Amino acid sequence: MTVGLKDGRTLWAKLFGRMVAGRCPVCGRVTVRGRGRTPGTADLAGAGLCPECEEVLVLRKRGFCPGCAAFAEAADMPVTLCGECRLLPRAWSAVGCFGGYEGGLRELVLKFKFGGQMAGLALMREMVWRAYVFHRERPDGFSGRAEVVTAVPLYRQRLRARGYNQSLELAKGVASRLGVKAAPDALRKVRPTGPQSRLSARERRTNLKGAFVADERVVAGKNVLVVDDVMTTGSTLEEAAKALFTAGAVRVEALALARD
Ligand SMILES: [Zn+2]
Ligand SMILES: [Zn+2]
Repeated sequence: MTVGLKDGRTLWAKLFGRMVAGRCPVCGRVTVRGRGRTPGTADLAGAGLCPECEEVLVLRKRGFCPGCAAFAEAADMPVTLCGECRLLPRAWSAVGCFGGYEGGLRELVLKFKFGGQMAGLALMREMVWRAYVFHRERPDGFSGRAEVVTAVPLYRQRLRARGYNQSLELAKGVASRLGVKAAPDALRKVRPTGPQSRLSARERRTNLKGAFVADERVVAGKNVLVVDDVMTTGSTLEEAAKALFTAGAVRVEALALARD
């Protein structure tokens, strides 16, 4: 028996429904949308990840400090203020991030930041958005009323060399979902600070002091959300928050894609 073209098409449609083949934006494996291990339940369900990546790229929902977003040893520990935050609250009004700076998330960030690869941008925007929603719904989290969405700025020479500010690209995603315009001019980096990675927490704070200036015409009287790609000690976001408050912001919420 031969199957006519029409029947062949029907069979094809029956087998694959409306699933769309694509490549996993993290590992590049060919994947079929809707075929995650537990369809619809993973944190990034519907984002086009392969089942393996879907399983490891998870939003940290427990085991973190609500004051500084630092991770507890185990991911399933209750959300509890860390010792440092109990002694001294951080400069921002609320903070949240998606997950740990490791594995697939780290690769995505590095490829985007230094390789100029925009391929993972949609996925990273989705992660930042899902982190925002999660931290908006938890107690003492985001207010959900951000009027200005901005990003940790790069110093102008760095921006010129890279051609884009990776954190601003992430901020644009959140801004459009909130129906506001991203405000790249809300914050400016007024001097270069060099790499922070080899400095201690105390040195980082000193190194960053006064590095950011906010524009009061943009932020005065506003609820501001500031986005960063990777948060390490939080000193950078904290200095940015201080500058925003100095310029008259009434609330500053800090959102990062990854926590190192
Ligand atoms: Zn994958
Ligand atoms: Zn803390």
